[in-house]
Amino acid sequence: MSQLKAYMDDTTILTSKEADTCKLLSIMDEMMVWSRMTFKPKKSRSLSLRKGKVHEDICFSVSGQKIPTVSEEPIKSLGRWYDKTLKDSNQVKVTIKTVDESLKTIGRCPLQSKYQVWCLQHMLIPILLWPLLIYEVTMSTVEAIEAKINRYTRKWLGLPPGLSNVALYSKQSKLKLLLKSIAEEFKAGKVRFQMMLENSNDTVSKEESKRLVKAIQQSQQGQWTNWEEAMQRSITWNDIWQMSPLRLSVLIRSTYDMLPSMTNLAKWKKGDDPTCPVCKEKPQTMEHVLSSCRMALANGRYTWRHNRVLEELTTTISNHMKPEAANISHKFFAEGGKMWIGSKRITSPLLVQNQNILGINDDWIVAADLPGWQT
Ligand SMILES: [Zn+2]
Repeated sequence: MSQLKAYMDDTTILTSKEADTCKLLSIMDEMMVWSRMTFKPKKSRSLSLRKGKVHEDICFSVSGQKIPTVSEEPIKSLGRWYDKTLKDSNQVKVTIKTVDESLKTIGRCPLQSKYQVWCLQHMLIPILLWPLLIYEVTMSTVEAIEAKINRYTRKWLGLPPGLSNVALYSKQSKLKLLLKSIAEEFKAGKVRFQMMLENSNDTVSKEESKRLVKAIQQSQQGQWTNWEEAMQRSITWNDIWQMSPLRLSVLIRSTYDMLPSMTNLAKWKKGDDPTCPVCKEKPQTMEHVLSSCRMALANGRYTWRHNRVLEELTTTISNHMKPEAANISHKFFAEGGKMWIGSKRITSPLLVQNQNILGINDDWIVAADLPGWQT
């Protein structure tokens, strides 16, 4: 067996006998001198195997200099480390250590917690995916890494530890966050890597159906699977930037019924009495607070909430009906801010006026069942 593999300015010699390698190296050395190039023995490595085990005594040299063995100096090639164990366990340990240290580093940054989630999603996870892809990493290790990531994500988003992963990663849930699951990215990456298929989204959709099955099995956190009329809402990073941290937390926790209602507090062993403190009749669940507390109804709390929403709608519509709203001009830019008309390039915005149908006619009437509302 004698093989010479070359790629760009790298060469790999594979032989079955020590003498063959020495012979090949000396021939190559001559050729290098002839072509006025030089070897860099210090940047090269040798690895000798005898009966499947690393043999550390065999050394090679080129241009009069010794080539270090992989045992002496581990080497990184094409983003992957090679050492004398020829196993990946050390690199997997290094990766896990990176996860721990990076999470702590991000946690120590004097940033608002939503920015910490962003760093985790856009900086740490992409960095981790590479070692997870090239080394032999078991699924249980990746799941352990994901559990660590989830713990910090929940903490930074102000969510209780009991909130399931469905809430964080589901794409079918009524509240869709743009978070990436590292375990899922890992699986998708492996599939791409192994099969080099273009449509490897299959893995992701399989994960999504597993999540839906899990959600349906969850009696409390999976209630959204029964909200037939509710529209799905996607939370973008832009939405998150504009929200106060507490608001995002309340939004997610309310979707998955994880707000500290009396019933939940009793369930979590943080309170004894699940009874509603307002009516003192029924257990205080989220549904009870939002729509079925008799005392809250009698006190006009539901009417107040209804009126606030209606007020917001009617005020917005009325503002659009004012004569000055009719003259609001809208600036429309062509894609990229430029446009061609014939051979003429237009870089200024195309001005379009009177797009507001409420403003151009004066016979619109707004009627609202609100106290003190006049049309
Ligand atoms: Zn009540």
